[in-house]
Amino acid sequence: MSEEPSATAIESLTRRRDVIAVNDEPRPLVDGFRRAITYLRLSVTDRCDLRCTYCMPERMTFLPRREVLSLEELYELACGFIERGVTKIRITGGEPLVRRDIVHLFEMLGRRLGHGLEELTLTTNGTQLAQHAEALAKAGVRRVNVSLDTLERARFEALTRRDALPQVLEGIAAAREAGLKVKLNAVALKGVNEDELPDLIEWAHGQGHDVTLIEVMPLGDVEEERLDQYLPLSDVRARLEQRWTLAESDHATGGPARYVDVAETGGRLGLITPHTGNFCAGCNRLRVTATGQLYPCLGGAERVDLRAALRSERPEEELAAALERAMAIKPEKHHFRMDERGAKPHLPRHMSLTGG
Ligand code: SAM
Ligand code: SF4
Repeated sequence: MSEEPSATAIESLTRRRDVIAVNDEPRPLVDGFRRAITYLRLSVTDRCDLRCTYCMPERMTFLPRREVLSLEELYELACGFIERGVTKIRITGGEPLVRRDIVHLFEMLGRRLGHGLEELTLTTNGTQLAQHAEALAKAGVRRVNVSLDTLERARFEALTRRDALPQVLEGIAAAREAGLKVKLNAVALKGVNEDELPDLIEWAHGQGHDVTLIEVMPLGDVEEERLDQYLPLSDVRARLEQRWTLAESDHATGGPARYVDVAETGGRLGLITPHTGNFCAGCNRLRVTATGQLYPCLGGAERVDLRAALRSERPEEELAAALERAMAIKPEKHHFRMDERGAKPHLPRHMSLTGG
């Protein structure tokens, strides 16, 4: 992409930001429900090399490149959040590792670790992880989430519309070799991978990876009906309990997942249940798209334009005002619903815009 900054521009930005980091006391971001915001999910692209059937259509329309923030702007934005008390940043997408020079952003943000930032991480489909695992570890990344919904090659191809399972498995192995802790995410899909979920969990635990299962959410148009894809995790859990002993775990990451320990595999299983169990009371996060649109809630239409603030005459003041607006409009909870009345709300944006 032509908008990427030169190494010198990045160096000078990083130095200027280091000075601000030392001099400024963080002014925490707290929303109208007294929830402190400490976690930013930053999307760096909406593009992807896969086409998961529950995420996007085969003929997906992507954002025009000129609208996407440069790496320099993404870094500026991330620093703005760190200065407001954000301690954890997850880079996401689309597929973050398809963005050219993305490792630069990890390197820049990696320098903020221990200076306001406590954790830098990413969510990836794993196809490009083998090339980047070592550089990510070197930049300070310690954990990665890899999305993997099936271990069967033909099924993977049908589900993602690309024959890329071997690459993903290679990526997971490379991440482990580079010293990264890998967590797997799998969307539970009716009639697609529901028969395979125990094997997937057993395999992951055998490799030393935690797994989190996710209920499908009605975001954006895809070819299939959402209700046909939806598999309630309460059903999955009941079936797993016939096979294994699941014990509630006190493990908590501040995220939406609730965890159980599986006695027989010795591993941990997370369950993200927007439909069968609401988790919004402890929400600590904000999402920003690759064009700088801040969505305070994954399940809401509320939005604040940070790109306009960033590109204004007085970016620091405008950004501060935009973040105050975001705090004021962050809703108490999402309104996702999946039942006989349909899949609601139907939000036009796809998950690949906000990155989950
Ligand atoms: N491309 C990367 C990946 O797949 O990990 C990062 C972005 S992807 C949008 C983030 C997560 O959202 C993935 O775990 C994916 O399975 C999940 N996801 C995508 N669409 C979803 C939907 N409609 N409902 C629930 N999860 C979804
Ligand atoms: Fe791409 Fe991730 Fe969406 Fe799959 S879930 S199409 S890998 S962005």
